[in-house]
Amino acid sequence: MHDNGQMTTTLFTDTQRFADWLTTKRNNNIVGFVPTMGALHEGHSSLFDLARSQCDLVVASIYVNNLQFNSSSDYDRYPRTLDEDVLVCQSRNVDAVWAPSQHDLFPDGQQLLTTSENALEYEGRDRPGHFAGVATVVDRLLSIVHPDRMFLGAKDHQQISVIASMSSQLHPHVNIVRCPTVREHDGLAMSSRNRFLTQSGRSQAPIISLALQHMVDTWRTGETEPTRLIAQATSDLQQINGATVHYIAVLDGNELQQSKSVKHGDTAIIAVTIDNVRLIDNMKFVNV
Ligand code: AMP
Repeated sequence: MHDNGQMTTTLFTDTQRFADWLTTKRNNNIVGFVPTMGALHEGHSSLFDLARSQCDLVVASIYVNNLQFNSSSDYDRYPRTLDEDVLVCQSRNVDAVWAPSQHDLFPDGQQLLTTSENALEYEGRDRPGHFAGVATVVDRLLSIVHPDRMFLGAKDHQQISVIASMSSQLHPHVNIVRCPTVREHDGLAMSSRNRFLTQSGRSQAPIISLALQHMVDTWRTGETEPTRLIAQATSDLQQINGATVHYIAVLDGNELQQSKSVKHGDTAIIAVTIDNVRLIDNMKFVNV
């Protein structure tokens, strides 16, 4: 503990040392785990804060998972900012950052897990193998951390669903905590990829969250027909120059089936590519 009440964050790159440290610290403590790929922003920090408020011990992992990228150039250009990331973790009182190398995490090579059906649609359809990569790495991380709670961002709606399926089978003791999406002042969901947008792309990207909000607002006036809400969002997104809209859908609650008639708790999801940057976002239909 520092004089200013801040704790010291310990950085581990060696997995054995990290595992040994956890063994000495675990006792009866509630262990909270926040898996990340680094390049930390306020969205990640909100997960650390929630974990801190609920758990005795907070552990973050930073691992840029090669298995979940669909092109090596996307993987290569993914931002790596470990020094700054450790400072962010320190400022949020994270107890330990674990940043293993690929060899350290998978000394015996990477065996891909098979994913459940919920990995096939939406992101899974457009990014073959993506969720198998996510599930494989999260499984490995969980098998070392054995947390009581894992904190995941609602921004990655489908990812939570896929991880929850894997985790309920392989790590049933882990409670998954769904954390709200943190946005920039203009509504754009924070993402490590936003930095790749051009100035013009960045200025148009908030249209995604505006389109989602517009869907919710229209639903609140009494429109429950998904196709009409989707048509409205399609038209809204046409304002973005040169964007590719991958999908717009309304899903049943936190499930991935399409909603037949939109109700409180359903989720609108959108994926759009702007400037070669794939952006995803979602919003819940909630009564005010
Ligand atoms: P990533 O580093 O992109 O793999 O994200 C690590 C975790 O942070 C995942 O659970 C994400 O869903 C979550 N996350 C990313 N962006 C945000 C955001 N804007 N708000 C809340 N959580 C987020």
